[in-house]
Amino acid sequence: MPLTSPDRQEIHQGSLQELILKVRQFNPDVDGDLIEKAYTFSAKLHKGQKRSSGEPYFFHPLEVAKILAELQLDTASIVTGLLHDTVEDTVATLEEIEKEFGSEIAALVDGVTKISQITFQTSEEKQAENFRKMILAMAKDLRVILVKLADRTHNMRTLEYLAKEKQVLIAQETLDIYGPIANRLGLSQLKRELEDLALRFTKPEIYYRLVTEVAKKYKEREKYIEDVRLMIQQTLKDHGYSNGSVTGRPKHFYSIHKKMERNQLNYDQIFDVTGFRIIVDSVEQCYGALGMIHAMWTPVPGRFKDYIAIPKANFYQSLHTTVVGPAGERIEIQIRTEQMHQTAERGIAAHWAYKEGNVDPKEREKFSWLNRLVEWNQDLKDPNEFLETVKLDLFAEDVYVFTPKGKVMEFPSGATPIDFAYSIHTDVGHHCIGAKINGRIVPLKHKLKSGDTVEILTSPNQRPNKDWLKIVRTSRAKNKIRQFIKAAEFERSFQLGRMILERELKAQDVKVKNFPKESDFEPITKQFGYKSTDDLLSAIGYGKVSISKIIQKLVQKETTEEKKVEKKPIERIYEEAARKSKTRQTVKVKGIEDLLVRFARCCNPVPGDSVIGFITRGRGISVHSRKCPKVFDSDPHRLIDIEWDLSQKTERRVKVRVVCEDRPGLLADMSRVIRDQNANISNAQIGTTKDKKAVCVFSVTIRDLSHLKKIISSLEAISGVISVGRVQKGP
Ligand code: MN
Repeated sequence: MPLTSPDRQEIHQGSLQELILKVRQFNPDVDGDLIEKAYTFSAKLHKGQKRSSGEPYFFHPLEVAKILAELQLDTASIVTGLLHDTVEDTVATLEEIEKEFGSEIAALVDGVTKISQITFQTSEEKQAENFRKMILAMAKDLRVILVKLADRTHNMRTLEYLAKEKQVLIAQETLDIYGPIANRLGLSQLKRELEDLALRFTKPEIYYRLVTEVAKKYKEREKYIEDVRLMIQQTLKDHGYSNGSVTGRPKHFYSIHKKMERNQLNYDQIFDVTGFRIIVDSVEQCYGALGMIHAMWTPVPGRFKDYIAIPKANFYQSLHTTVVGPAGERIEIQIRTEQMHQTAERGIAAHWAYKEGNVDPKEREKFSWLNRLVEWNQDLKDPNEFLETVKLDLFAEDVYVFTPKGKVMEFPSGATPIDFAYSIHTDVGHHCIGAKINGRIVPLKHKLKSGDTVEILTSPNQRPNKDWLKIVRTSRAKNKIRQFIKAAEFERSFQLGRMILERELKAQDVKVKNFPKESDFEPITKQFGYKSTDDLLSAIGYGKVSISKIIQKLVQKETTEEKKVEKKPIERIYEEAARKSKTRQTVKVKGIEDLLVRFARCCNPVPGDSVIGFITRGRGISVHSRKCPKVFDSDPHRLIDIEWDLSQKTERRVKVRVVCEDRPGLLADMSRVIRDQNANISNAQIGTTKDKKAVCVFSVTIRDLSHLKKIISSLEAISGVISVGRVQKGP
């Protein structure tokens, strides 16, 4: 009989039968009539419409329905797949759908139509918002997302027919939104396909190179893989595991690409580990098979993971181990039951109740959160309230937290309030001092947990510091903190550089008009290879540029330009500077020699006190006690870490206040004790209090803090002395 080309109706009928057969395989009670009705309804509406590929448009909803049938979803989902584009793209209305197919299917079609209208922006900040919308859509009915994922899968499969720019846009959106959602719902088969297709369109060179390399590598290793496979197979058989099956693991190009990027590997380095999967009949057999593998080959320590006892958040279960296989090669092995395999591949879809109203109560319990979501759908008036209530254990690998207004934000696990603060605004991040989590105050290093409601606490005095870099997890926070620290360091070194230069110019009696006018310094700035005077001054502050070299240039310039008669030899300048620095320097600033320092009168620190420097304008660094209240009021940009140079001998004058009984001879005793400690008294003031006590204030010259402490304790030892204390304010 000659072959005749079948007419369209036949193709359609064939496809319909194919679809119903596919469903019947896993759901013998399927309502074939309903599927047929949807099929005819949709085919009629899409009649005459064409896809970019030139095919009849109806092929698309049909393929989407097939993908849903492969996921073994319920009839309502498959019918929705057939109808999903009718409301958006044809004359059909939601009312019609409801009339023909009932409210459940109408709601599903409505949900899919609404998701299609969300415009996803793929920048980092918008990501959380996109997830929020998706979560809300899922809350209405999880099947909406499953249909949408199937829709996206078919669109990705046929992406080549679209214009180049559109391809990249849709592929990127798939990577940003649909891939992660498929992953979270455990639909790893779909996820792999979506990601690989997306890679093909976003980075075609990489994708095709990987396809070639993997095929080449596989050919090289074919024999090894087959040998190992047979060895495992035989061992299972020997132990009576009749149904044990062993396969090499499927290639997922996108994950190989990610791994290469992450570990900066080249193509030769990526296939050094071969993976196998063992599927057995029961949980007992999983552990049994593990024992056999470990008896056969040495396990690699630290690589065994029991996801059967502790399933992943997306319900994934398996045993993972890595062993040193034949020829000393590492092989990775996953062991699971068929049911676990179904969950691993189809995730939530594997558990979705296709047998309407006839579900194992245990399964229901496992997905009670799903039921809750569906229940909440009934009275879901306030989406914020919904977000408050869903604790999102679905997304355990990342952290989902709420703003006080109920907006959900996504963070990598281990994120802190600082990450949260920077995600709101840079200024909020800079001034973050802690957070209130679920109403309780927590420190900056606190780790956020899914479901937390986070309210950031700020203070105008707060500034980021280097320690923050160790506790943040988001790149945004890291970058902002680094920028701030860099700017602050620049400001500090600029102030310091300017101060050093001013001081040195004064010391050398060099007058630079309108210091630091840009034009005066321009030639020198250029000579030293800096873009601006600010940069040059900052370099001086950092100690990158020698101040004497700058002075040398300036002096040369001054003398040639103004024809100074009195020309100071450069050697003498150096000697002078060196001599001065020896006598003056009692505190050190990291990396900077020869500083002009003065001691703040407000707190009068002595060597040994914990101190901090404040860069004044033109008067050097003033040294404060770290406890001095003035420090807290200072511009933090101009504070600088300093320490005492205890190798330098110095003398500091402090006041000591003694309260004592008013008895003759006591003053002489006190003077003697102070002199015994080798300290000079430069001044003493004596008064009395109302209750007839004497108050003496001695100005004493001391070496350092321990010297002062000795003096105080020996004064305290004198009988008749009531109290001794240091007067903070200087003489
Ligand atoms: Mn569609």
